[in-house]
Amino acid sequence: MVTAPELAAAILTIDLGAVVANWRLLRDRLRPGAALGAAVKANAYGLGAREVTAALAEAGCRSFFVATIDEGIEVRAVLASATAGTGSTAAVYVLNGLLPGSDEGLVAHRLTPVLNSLGDIDAWSAAARRRGASLPAALHVDTGMARLGLPADELACLVDDPGRLTGITPVLVMSHLACADQPEHPLNEEQRAAFGQALDALAAVLAPARLQASLANSAGIFLGSSYHFDLARPGAALYGVGPRADGPNPMRPVVSLRARILQVRTVAPPKTVGYGATYAVAEPSRIATVAVGYADGYLRSLSNRGRATLGAFEVPLVGRVSMDLITVDVSAVPAAIACPGAFVELIGAAQTVDAVAERAGTIGYEILTALGSRYARVYRGLDAQTQ
Ligand SMILES: *Cc1c(COP(=O)(O)O)cnc(C)c1O
Repeated sequence: MVTAPELAAAILTIDLGAVVANWRLLRDRLRPGAALGAAVKANAYGLGAREVTAALAEAGCRSFFVATIDEGIEVRAVLASATAGTGSTAAVYVLNGLLPGSDEGLVAHRLTPVLNSLGDIDAWSAAARRRGASLPAALHVDTGMARLGLPADELACLVDDPGRLTGITPVLVMSHLACADQPEHPLNEEQRAAFGQALDALAAVLAPARLQASLANSAGIFLGSSYHFDLARPGAALYGVGPRADGPNPMRPVVSLRARILQVRTVAPPKTVGYGATYAVAEPSRIATVAVGYADGYLRSLSNRGRATLGAFEVPLVGRVSMDLITVDVSAVPAAIACPGAFVELIGAAQTVDAVAERAGTIGYEILTALGSRYARVYRGLDAQTQ
């Protein structure tokens, strides 16, 4: 940052204390004996993989999930310093699995690939044999998502020919739920049953020692203890996103986004506001121009739909979201409050991530992962934490 946060046009505040509180809340929901990991892929859903990983490692998290090797390298580096001297090792799982030539980086940074196919298994086994060493891995079985993971026929081949795992030490067997945020969806139970069968089939051919089973993401944890197995791997709920499609959100909000008013003007009919002249004022209106836009991840689909908070007032976004700016109607707000330099809250207690997502026609995940790089980022909350 060139400017100090207090001089910035827009400030993203990330409450690491709330992330840790959410991690503990989820951990306390798990069946006895189950462990809680964390998905920190995509820069911890846009909130900062470094900061989030350090905070969760400190809280006791020992299993981290990323999508790519580069993400894994960053997380491993944080863990190396966060847990230095404690003798404690954490696993970093790379969900995308193997890409040609990736074994060197995985081994060098002690990253555990999630093997998604027989092809992945053969390649990892070959890498182990080349090194004359045993290499750890997670096995991902597809139980109904049809995205990544061994399909049923590949799993059957593996169970028939477990020698394909030569050189591989499986440490985790996982699958991923497609509809966990809809508790009534029949696919949840189907996937749980299919996962149980896959575990039984693998148990017959694998040495069971220290092998964990993992099925639940954030929403999966709320489906009940039969979904918890040995390890749950939530992402979104840690970052404050509601784990259910509807119903109350038990998670603590993590993110607040505030941006400054740059200018205020009065616009009278028949004038319009912004690109495309999509908003015509019905009466003389005070329009405030605010320093955030779609280049910051404030989605353009919030045009004429978004909401902001200014003190005790909720104000509507009018006109289109442009690259660096939005316009809000502050006619109802006293001029002393809606003035240049004042902060407008776009995400926070009044405008939750889920509410913003709903207005934008998307999900909280996308709102978080879209959060831009121009914000002054302020991390807080860890020192205020107890326990
Ligand atoms: C992203 C991801 C998770 C975390 O999911 P949330 O819904 O954010 O809790 C868990 N497992 C896999 C395989 C994932 O890709």
